[in-house]
Amino acid sequence: MMDNVQKYIDNENPRGNHPEIVKPIIGGSSYEGRRIKGVKLTYKEGNPGIFIEGGIHAREWISPAVVTYILNELILSDDSRVRYMAESYDWYIFPVFNPDGYEYTHTTNRLWRKTRRPTRRGCYGADPNRNWNFHWAEGGVSRNPCSEIYAGDRPFSETETRTMSQYIDSIQSKIFSYIAFHSYSQLLLIPYGHSNERVSNYDDLFQIGNYSINALSKRYGTRYKVGNIVDIIFLSKCTCLIDVLIYALRRNCFWRGTMWKLIFVALVALATAEKVKYDNYQVFRVTPQTEEQVEVIRNLEEISDGFSFWKEPNTVQNHADVMVAPHKIPDFQDIMKKFDIPYDTYVSDVQALIDNELPPAQPLVSFDFTRYHTLDEIYAFLDSLAKENPGKVQVIVGGKTHEGRQIKGVKLTLGSSKSGIVLEGGIHAREWISPASILYIVNELLQNKNADVRQLAESHEWYIFPVVNPDGYVYTHTTNRLWRKTRKPYGLCYGSDPNRNWGYKWMSGGASNNPCSETYGGSSAFSDVETKSLSEYLTSISSKFNAYVSFHSYSQLLMFPYGHTTQHLDNYNDELQIANKAVQAISKRYGTKYKAGNVAETIYIASGSSVDWVKGTFHKPVTYTYELRDTGRHGFLLPADQIAPTALETLDSLVAMFKEAKARGYK
Ligand SMILES: [Zn+2]
Repeated sequence: MMDNVQKYIDNENPRGNHPEIVKPIIGGSSYEGRRIKGVKLTYKEGNPGIFIEGGIHAREWISPAVVTYILNELILSDDSRVRYMAESYDWYIFPVFNPDGYEYTHTTNRLWRKTRRPTRRGCYGADPNRNWNFHWAEGGVSRNPCSEIYAGDRPFSETETRTMSQYIDSIQSKIFSYIAFHSYSQLLLIPYGHSNERVSNYDDLFQIGNYSINALSKRYGTRYKVGNIVDIIFLSKCTCLIDVLIYALRRNCFWRGTMWKLIFVALVALATAEKVKYDNYQVFRVTPQTEEQVEVIRNLEEISDGFSFWKEPNTVQNHADVMVAPHKIPDFQDIMKKFDIPYDTYVSDVQALIDNELPPAQPLVSFDFTRYHTLDEIYAFLDSLAKENPGKVQVIVGGKTHEGRQIKGVKLTLGSSKSGIVLEGGIHAREWISPASILYIVNELLQNKNADVRQLAESHEWYIFPVVNPDGYVYTHTTNRLWRKTRKPYGLCYGSDPNRNWGYKWMSGGASNNPCSETYGGSSAFSDVETKSLSEYLTSISSKFNAYVSFHSYSQLLMFPYGHTTQHLDNYNDELQIANKAVQAISKRYGTKYKAGNVAETIYIASGSSVDWVKGTFHKPVTYTYELRDTGRHGFLLPADQIAPTALETLDSLVAMFKEAKARGYK
């Protein structure tokens, strides 16, 4: 902790009883009022000075630790080489340049980097190593206060850099060398960082640096690389620096502004993907009361990928659901408090819900409709249905995926009527209740003896695709349960939102042009092969169907087009009346409450959806989007024991929907 470092500086250092040699010094102060303490070692008055800076980035703990260790060696070591070095120079040593940040890494967030001054957008701190007034903000910095490399509003906006720069100025004539310690990467870096312009004595510094890293590797074989900051990138293991200092200083060096980079953890990039865990992730329901609060919430996803919307913010008084990574929970609470935004904890541990969902541990002998299944199991089930029901069930392929899978479905022909209904599920990968409900409904359409269900089943031809985003669905099983999009690479990120990628009013609101966003619309309409191939299939059967129903979760809504505009277009009134009947029916069995309306007015503007494309292109009269259970207590992670009730009440609503549609002349 900060206190321990300071205690050491004050009195616990081994030669603390030689005040003429070891003097505590105060270099500056922090935003929260801490002092930036250091030590000056003076063995002989008039020695040339070396300045050592540690801990400017709070989370780089190895830096203060090594600086303090070296300080201790300088005082205590009996090695004649060390003694010679120690006593030939004046040392100004500051192990912790950023004490507020360092303290925060102990109390709250181990990976905090910046200072702790509140800035704009509810974020804290500037990068104290991007805030000095030499070529300030000329490159490699951010003007976004939420960024890890935020340069601050102006040079020396941070108390720490301002006060320390004044101190350094005051002793400037006494020091000839300045060495900063960071982690990680095993680099020995030479200025400048703002451009690839060389310092005037670059060649000397480069030579000295090479001698130094040679010396460094002697003890444990640790390899460093030397170069100027702009040119270099490198990465590997561990540390011992005292050798290097001896070497460098013995060669009578001049390396003002030189930096060390150390490593404190070995990073191993795993080639095989591990399953993403969401331990201690929480989901908060936030309800903005003002436009400003809506903006604050909307900005969360830009601040950090530790914030992720389960339900996007919309307007004042409409709630949003935001999942927050454990390391971001303190920030989240700060921001909510600062802007006075009311919030509730909806899910206190996302991983616990995932563990609770009960996907089958191994493939079952017969298909269990009350469990969630893998894509392979679902496709095998569809194949077996066709085999067992010749003439009634036919396997159909609606398209293909980026990773080469089929978009497989079934066509049910249970009566003589040719009036087609398309059911689309699983366009958003993580919404598992959608494919699960559809499969359950398929089974009911085949088996249920109830007269209303038989009437519904037999008076239509059914084109049913339980999983239209198979790559994404597989990914939710193998790697990341909360994946939403397709899996096509777009730059550094993956996938478009396949429900924002359709070619009707594409990108006209409620979709993002950032490939890393959850609602990325794609590089062009139909840039994903899933939407493109499925749209071609739908076009090929467009004369055969009159109804298109898409199943999502969660929120308990029944919506119809359009998403790109709040205008009441086409047969708005009929769609609304039909939806109202369906919503009444859905509540009968278990009292489950749904809301009905068009997409843009019921949730938010969203363009490029499959249902809008069907409506806008073919003007089909019966076009709906379900947001199935629940209202957020489980969100996407609905326990498997809710599959059956969700499917049954949804089937009730489909019966009512098509009765009413028929009554209105839609066949
Ligand atoms: Zn969805």
